[in-house]
Formats: sequence, C-alpha cells, structure tokens
Amino acid sequence: MIVVPLGVASATPTALRHLPAVALWREGSVFLFDCGENAQMRMLQAGIKRSKIECIFISHFDVDHYSGLIGLLSTLQLQRREKPLRIAGPAGIQEYVEWNLKFSGVELGFEIIFIEVEEGTDEARVIDEDDYYVEARALKHRRYCLGYRFQEKDRPGKVNAELAAEMGVTEDQHFKDLKSGKDVTLSDGTVVKSSDIVGHPRPGDSFAYVTDTEYCPNAVKLALNTNILYHEATFSDTLADKASETGHSSAKDAARVATEAQTKLLVIGHFSARYTNAHVLLKEAREGFYPAWLANELRPIFTDPTHERGIVKAKVELRDLSKESDRKDNYRSDYHSGGKRNFRPRRSSGGYRSNNRGRSRGGYQNRHRSSDRNRDENRWNNDSSNRSRSSYRDHDRF
Ligand SMILES: [Zn+2]
Repeated sequence: MIVVPLGVASATPTALRHLPAVALWREGSVFLFDCGENAQMRMLQAGIKRSKIECIFISHFDVDHYSGLIGLLSTLQLQRREKPLRIAGPAGIQEYVEWNLKFSGVELGFEIIFIEVEEGTDEARVIDEDDYYVEARALKHRRYCLGYRFQEKDRPGKVNAELAAEMGVTEDQHFKDLKSGKDVTLSDGTVVKSSDIVGHPRPGDSFAYVTDTEYCPNAVKLALNTNILYHEATFSDTLADKASETGHSSAKDAARVATEAQTKLLVIGHFSARYTNAHVLLKEAREGFYPAWLANELRPIFTDPTHERGIVKAKVELRDLSKESDRKDNYRSDYHSGGKRNFRPRRSSGGYRSNNRGRSRGGYQNRHRSSDRNRDENRWNNDSSNRSRSSYRDHDRF
C-alpha cells in the first residue's frame, strides 16, 4: 500500500499546505481519506488518477475535511466515469452531496453508494471485501468524527508445490484441501499434512487515519499494530490546553497513540498554520515514539518500499523537508554570526538588502523568511508567547 498525503494543513490552509486529504493506493485502486479543498488538484499533481478512486471516507463535517468533494465529483462526471463510487461518512453526507448536485443541475452518469454511520455509533465496518475491509470508529472531537482503519485480510500461506509433488500429491482437490488447512490421505494411504506443505499465512497490511481528535482509546484501537498510522499533530504540547479546548491532539498525543498501538510507523499531519516549520512537532513526536515522520504533501510512504517505489510519481517538484530543516539551521547561524546568506534583514535595519537580490531559492519562503524566523523562534521556545506578530497570531482556533 502506498500512502500519499495530499493536504497536511489544519483548518487554515497556508501558501505551502493544503486542506486535509490523504490518498491510499493499493493494487491500482485509490481510497481517499477526507477531501479538503484542492484534493483533486493535489491528486493530479501527485500522479494519482482520480478515475481510480474506489471509495472516499469523510471523517466529519468541519468544512476543511469535505470542501473538495463536490468539485471532485464534478470532475469524475466530466471524465465520464461509469463505475460506482462509494462515499462513507457520518450520517448527512448523502443529503449534502445530493442537495449540491441537484442545486447545480448535475446528473451523474455513475452511481454513488453512500455508507452512512449514524451519530453516536462507536464502531462500524463500513467496507467488507474479499481481500480487505475498512472499519470506522468514533473519535473525540467537538463534533461527531470518525477515524478509519484500512485492513488487508491475511493472505493464505504459499503452497510448496514441489514438495507436494514429491510427496505424491497430484489431485487439484488435494491441493485445495491442503491450502485450506486440511490434511489429506492419498490413495496409497500416505497422509500429507497441510502444515508441511503450506507456509504461514501472510498478514495483510494496514493503515489508520486518525485526525481531529483528542487522545482516546478508539484512536489506539484503530491504530493497533498498523503498518502506517497517519495521526494529527495540530499543536505542540506547549499548547496542550488549546488542543483539548479545540478537540485536537499534540504531537505528544500522537506519539502516545502510536506507542500504545505499537504501530510500525507514525506519520503526523494536520499542522496548525502557526508552525511554519513542522520540525518542532516531529521532534516532540520522536521523543515519544521514534519511528515518526512528517507528512510531506505528495511524498509517498510505502508499506513495501522494495516493490512499491516508483509506482506513484509526483508531477511537480516536492519540497525537501530535510533541506528545509538544514536551511533553518543556516538562518540561525547566519543570523547569530551576522552573516548575510539566506537572511534578509528588515529594511529599517539598513545595510545589505540588495546583496540578497537574485539569490532567492525558495520564493515565498525566502521572501518571508525574516518574519518566519521571528515567529518560529518565539513559537519554538514558547508557543503561547505574544511577543511575535504574525498573520496567524490572532487565530483563535488554529
Ligand atoms: Zn481538521
């Protein structure tokens, strides 16, 4: 399975972060978890075909999580989709979609199969196929919100056909029985044991999508032993009060869920716009659970890197978060040593503004770098600080 974060912002998008959506690619099919504004464009940029979407899972009805849905459906219609599409979410999703399509006079050429979860439901299996299922569980947010777990079913162990032939197995029915775990008796009376011929069952991969929640036991249940847990980390622990007031998690909470669930890899996302550099959140998550990564928009995460690398190729250049982190160190050392590289002082401080012209590497990032630095330094050290002014300072929620 390949997980591709499409939007890692929380409720307020920034110039570099889009509203929440995560795509899961599995054997050519795509599953979309939340559908924030721009999700369809980010899929296009990620190199993921929108026509391959099998199912869309909506967590809840805060606007940032479903504002891209109608646009995406319209595109699927324009692409002349015929295959049915499933949309799962809290009850009300059907009314919302149908009202919008009717209002716009769109008559879809494909069927939408709605899977609604009644408010108050603690857990539900929303999809159940031969080789995978998806379960939803209620999280702890200010409004009814669902987390999801995508689970591949265990695959039967491989039959050692050579060994079976050596032991005299020739009939198809005997192979089937052995595969299903039954021992067989051959015509000459030889008993062939299934356990001698068939390997161990191969456990299916799993992915949990847990966002817009405070710490809660259902988050741990969803994430239990998963290969990949995508968990929100809206705030750092210094804003724990704000996190619980708004029904969100800190990076420390995400690490707690990952630890209790024994997931293999924690990927954090849904970052508050106040964190212009999310590495402070990664650092905090790693203090609690080391195998943690930052969700980087459009960068694929694999459950089987050996075989999956290269399947999903982004069509735009990806931001290199590790370099961004290096650059931050550069800014700091340059600043402290009075250096000029990468750092443009305010006009009022005079001096060498023109020296930096033409050296811009990061476009938007560079032009705003000095204010970012102030904002970050204050916030990194003390999130509740009021010393810095930034466009996000007065944001009540995020
Ligand atoms: Zn949200």
